[in-house]
Amino acid sequence: MMGKAYLVGSGPGGLGLMTIRAREVIDSADVVLYDQLPGEEILATLPESAERIDCGKYGGSHTLEQHEIEALMVERVKAGKTVVRLKGGDPFLFGRGGEEIETLREHGISVEVVPGVTSAIAVPEMVGIPVTHRRYASQVTFITGHEDPTKPESALDWEVLARLKGTLVILMGVKNLPAIAAALTAHGKDPATPVAIIERGLRPDQRVTVGTLADIAEKARAAGVRPPAVIVIGGVVELYVGGEGQATP
Ligand code: SAH
Repeated sequence: MMGKAYLVGSGPGGLGLMTIRAREVIDSADVVLYDQLPGEEILATLPESAERIDCGKYGGSHTLEQHEIEALMVERVKAGKTVVRLKGGDPFLFGRGGEEIETLREHGISVEVVPGVTSAIAVPEMVGIPVTHRRYASQVTFITGHEDPTKPESALDWEVLARLKGTLVILMGVKNLPAIAAALTAHGKDPATPVAIIERGLRPDQRVTVGTLADIAEKARAAGVRPPAVIVIGGVVELYVGGEGQATP
């Protein structure tokens, strides 16, 4: 008999921001496939009785390739297991959850998706930065920084992104930050636009680096900024007050 598959978002970090449904589903799992993004506090609570498969690190080298992860999920479900694919934040925002669900469906496997609180909103929020605000931003755009803007085949249109009014939130953007800041200013975005980088949001060692489009790349380099980090570009960053709202749940 077929088992069941769940695609579960663990939230941005910390048990307090994980949903009750996520907890239920994790606790009922025979198999949990995870990576490091959910963070220590959550990973420490995976059921002892479950087979726990570490699929790799965020931003770094993957211990398992995407197709290997998908093959494992299919294989375990077909063996009758309840399989949970656990992801940081929300499973459908830059989490490759969409690809996993496609593969599972191709194999006739039904999937329940458990949404999670995304780091794209919660991480800035927890340091006092709202991604929208009537005075500063009536729209927000979520961007993967994985794309090198200098590559002609980039799926992102930096000219359009530079023109947008509103907030830009970049995930996975630490490595390409110098190129991203340069692309935005080259296409006419004001170099004085404020930028905040929040590293390891909601973790005890969370750190915020603030600057402008003109100087953020240098500041990040000098501070040794590393992934995972959420980058926020726009007037809303002015609402960041160092030290405020940094309580970890
Ligand atoms: N699905 C996830 C995002 C996956 S992409 C979500 O909805 O949150 C991975 C990127 O998410 C990281 O490179 C980083 O940009 C961001 N991220 C996730 N958790 C984070 C955290 N606690 N602090 C800072 N950035 C985080």
